[in-house]
Amino acid sequence: MSAPLALRPALRTLGSYHSPQVAARVRLNTNESPLPPPEGWRAAFTEAMGEIEFNRYPDREAWKLRGEIASLHGVTPSEVFCANGSNEVLQCLLLAFGGAGRTALVFEPTYALHSHLAALCGLRVVVGDRSPSLEIDAGRAVELIEQERPEVVFVCSPNNPTGMVEDPGVVAALVEAAPGLCVADEAYGQFASWSALSLRGTLGNVASGLVVMRTFSKTWAMAGARLGYLLADPQIVEGCLAASLPYHLSAQTQVAGFLALRFGEEMRARVREIDDGRATIVAGLSKLPVDTWPSQANFVLFRPKEMDARSTWTALLERGVLIRDLSTRPRLEGCLRVTVGTEEENASFLSALCEVLS
Ligand SMILES: *Cc1c(COP(=O)(O)O)cnc(C)c1O
Repeated sequence: MSAPLALRPALRTLGSYHSPQVAARVRLNTNESPLPPPEGWRAAFTEAMGEIEFNRYPDREAWKLRGEIASLHGVTPSEVFCANGSNEVLQCLLLAFGGAGRTALVFEPTYALHSHLAALCGLRVVVGDRSPSLEIDAGRAVELIEQERPEVVFVCSPNNPTGMVEDPGVVAALVEAAPGLCVADEAYGQFASWSALSLRGTLGNVASGLVVMRTFSKTWAMAGARLGYLLADPQIVEGCLAASLPYHLSAQTQVAGFLALRFGEEMRARVREIDDGRATIVAGLSKLPVDTWPSQANFVLFRPKEMDARSTWTALLERGVLIRDLSTRPRLEGCLRVTVGTEEENASFLSALCEVLS
């Protein structure tokens, strides 16, 4: 018998994205919501479960859910595509519009899944650099787009892991220059001062390749439900539907999503609470020997100036606080990322860090 078949080359070099799920008292490593979804949502969801006809396939095109999401954003249901988390949304998009012979452009450092899924779907990945302050330079970016002609250009705003919101002028320049799709990942969009959706108004037809991605995993406190969506031109949505598996979105997931949208007020209250928590963390960090980046998300990137990042991470874990170590990622040397938690969790993090760094 021969040796087991080797993995596809695209997978062999990618390494693992997965953030280690170490047991810890305070878990601030994956940008989840520290709070469960609202009680009212849980009650409505449980009741709705009793009414699902589980012997039947779910609505294949998830029209009800797409209708609710469409009205949230003031678009039509034909401009909404939903899948099991925005990662699956992205995979469908790349299966539909990517593939071998096509190119994706990412600006590092950014969310690792963009380049990972692009490579998995057969695209060639071109990496654009950011300025030393980790911002995209519009002039250099447009030059790179003209040179490489990528079918898919990625931006992430607020960007993970820096937390920084991209400048509207920069994103507009990318959308205008992109020969195909420009995907704006707005997983943390509810925390941001602006959304790329506004470019549909200002750029008109030029924005027809703009794809805005959102998720229920972060602000909606439903990472466990696995639901994400994109907003784009109906032709792009048609492509994603064609690339998705039949009945990919279960009846439970569809129900979980449209019931969540009834709790918009609670969600906005959580966003304000997280904003306050982030302000507390930023204020605490400003008194310690660390560099930070200006975040408009539910996490903060920082770099200890006098202590090695890995040792800092380990010392925090020894004190029961788990954060994300990004220090081995290119362009993020020495960096750590902390997710905003509850008031108590934020306090635990700050006092542990203070102890570690002093
Ligand atoms: C967390 C995150 C997502 C969410 O992915 P899901 O599959 O929806 O859970 C997407 N994009 C970015 C940048 C993220 O940080």
